[in-house]
Amino acid sequence: MTRLAGKSALITGSARGIGRGFAQAYIAEGATVAIADINIDAANATADELGDQAYPVQIDVSDQSSIDAAIATVVARTGKLDICVNNAALFDAAKTIDITRASYDKLFGINVAGTLFTMQAAAAQMIAQGHGGKIINTASQAGRRGEPLVLVYCATKAAVISMTQSAGLDLIQHGINVNAIAPGVVDGEHWKHVDAMFAKLEDKPLGQKRAEVEAGVPAGRYAQPEDLSPMAVFLASSDSDYVVAQCYNVDGGQWMS
Ligand code: NAD
Repeated sequence: MTRLAGKSALITGSARGIGRGFAQAYIAEGATVAIADINIDAANATADELGDQAYPVQIDVSDQSSIDAAIATVVARTGKLDICVNNAALFDAAKTIDITRASYDKLFGINVAGTLFTMQAAAAQMIAQGHGGKIINTASQAGRRGEPLVLVYCATKAAVISMTQSAGLDLIQHGINVNAIAPGVVDGEHWKHVDAMFAKLEDKPLGQKRAEVEAGVPAGRYAQPEDLSPMAVFLASSDSDYVVAQCYNVDGGQWMS
């Protein structure tokens, strides 16, 4: 499979979880992928596991100089940037009256500003190259509705969907397609952390929230990263050249239910 043959991709938050799954799929389609993560040890290990087409890059998407340095590293290594996936994000949960400014600032700094300014730096590089490009943002079903204990995270993901729409409409004049994927619930380390938070907030034993959420997914199970990868490949390939400013649910029917 060679739908991404010769392409240079950067995926933020790809040391583990969904981003790692995207990296694996892009490599299988022929791309070279920067495993860009704040956790450089994990990025190193993941790049080793994924083979010669993967290499680690440290990035903190909440820090402009770190974003700029990461893009410069990709260009130095591969000569270009064709695909940028803005996937790094943090989750938090709290009752509305208990939300702290520290949590708000952190989540908006990473999930919103991190997505915006990594997208901006990637777009600037793609415009300079003059051959268009693909930008894919990881949103969430949480960005399409409120959840009683998840105000800040939901708001950040609604912002990701909105930024995808505006940037998509602006950047298509340069041949850059900006689109997003809205997962539902995806198995992995992230959900262990979410389950533990809800166990405290809702006074439930560990694992109960996870099971309740799974029971509510029409497809009957959590997604694995591989369930999302085909959409990520489609949005990175020339098959999506006429797809602009969209956010696709890949959620086992969760949003529709
Ligand atoms: P994860 O927590 O397993 O992985 C996130 C990665 O991002 C980690 O490797 C982490 O080190 C990295 N990261 C954190 N802060 C960073 C920063 N400032 N700069 C660079 N990297 C940073 O998460 P996941 O479950 O794989 O989720 C990936 C994306 O999918 C996120 O945008 C998340 O909001 C979204 N999402 C996840 C689910 C789910 O159920 N897991 C559902 C919907 C949407």
